[in-house]
Amino acid sequence: MDKKNFQIETKCVQGGYTPGNGEPRQVPIIQSTTFKYATSEDMGKLFDLEASGYFYSRLQNPTCDTVAAKICELEGGTAAMLTSSGQAASFFSIFNLASCGDHIVCSTALYGGTYNLFAVTLKRMGISFTFVDPDCTVEELNAAFQPNTKAVFGETVANPALTVFDFEKFATAAHAHGVPLIIDNTFATPVNCRPFEHGADIVTHSTTKYMDGHDSAVGGCIVDSGKFDWMAHAEKFPGLCTPDESYHGITYAEKFGKEGAFITKCTAQLMRDFGCCQSPQSAYYLNLGLESLHIRMERHCLNAQKVAEFLENHEKIAWVNFPGLKSNKYYDLAQKYMPKGTCGVVSFGVKGGRQAAETVMKNLRLIAIETHVADARSCCLHPANATHRQMNDEELLAAGIPGDLIRLSCGLESYQDLIADIEQALTNV
Ligand SMILES: *Cc1c(COP(=O)(O)O)cnc(C)c1O
Repeated sequence: MDKKNFQIETKCVQGGYTPGNGEPRQVPIIQSTTFKYATSEDMGKLFDLEASGYFYSRLQNPTCDTVAAKICELEGGTAAMLTSSGQAASFFSIFNLASCGDHIVCSTALYGGTYNLFAVTLKRMGISFTFVDPDCTVEELNAAFQPNTKAVFGETVANPALTVFDFEKFATAAHAHGVPLIIDNTFATPVNCRPFEHGADIVTHSTTKYMDGHDSAVGGCIVDSGKFDWMAHAEKFPGLCTPDESYHGITYAEKFGKEGAFITKCTAQLMRDFGCCQSPQSAYYLNLGLESLHIRMERHCLNAQKVAEFLENHEKIAWVNFPGLKSNKYYDLAQKYMPKGTCGVVSFGVKGGRQAAETVMKNLRLIAIETHVADARSCCLHPANATHRQMNDEELLAAGIPGDLIRLSCGLESYQDLIADIEQALTNV
């Protein structure tokens, strides 16, 4: 049986790890920083990337590699690596391709932390970004490219705007300009969307969210589709297509091909120098989450759908944003790319604005107030009163976050109980 042909459910449960005779059934936690060798020659081959193996867990660790291999199978990629967080994965995915003086085209529908990383911190490192409206025309999108553009970046389902990414439009433009499309697939997960099947070249994840799914471990992942031909655009990607003097003159795209160049360079250079590695213990927790990802995503989506439908029909609710509602602007795109569902996050506004939203939040009993999403336990956040509390109503609107917006992450509880909790909280408004 070819493992590649297994259904996604089987890959969630058994991907990445096949124990031999008498070996542990569960992925072993190799809690060791270093690895022992008989001769210096043996170790030298590893340093020269002539042989594969482990020497120091900042670069690679067997537990982390096993879990990365599972995510690689889930996404249908050729190589993958874990990182310490989703932020580290986003950072590496850009910095592995772009240097000071380079430019990236990016959708405005973006996680706030990613926006800050790109617009503030990477800008300080000399990498500039042009942010484009995800609903822009093809002409507007093409106009955003510059001769020094190195990649296009977007999110499958944006956090918190819940904008659905138009893969066809963005992938076509990226490839016409000879650059890869990088997708943050955190909210959809590979269970609901596999970006490589829609033209994406690199995928990133905050595994902290649905993949872990139990509030246990912060982590990230990068997966390469192995499809982007770096050598065909060698002048744009000198880091991959010319010798790396900091690594014995290796040319990654030559030595490791389309399938392995991106992740090998990212590990050998960026992980070596920045050290944003995931701990084996965290990777173990992540793998436990992955084993039930396919079952959980189905329930998260069902609960969100039921809650969104309830809210849409409630007289005290001003508006509801969920791509699974027929009335939603992104319903058709969601059906095209995510027929099984999008995610478990719904946002909505309560009539009466900021004050009413606060009252509802205060009166929830089951749904907890947290700065988090994608957990087994339902949680919610009122940005105007928490993460964005320094802004007035006008500034909030300009940021696309109305004062009455409540972001609700539907967990794995019964949707009847979630709806009952919201219903009783609404009686106080
Ligand atoms: C949370 C999140 C991140 C950042 O991930 P961390 O693991 O918190 O560093 C990146 N992208 C999206 C879409 C997220 O939701």
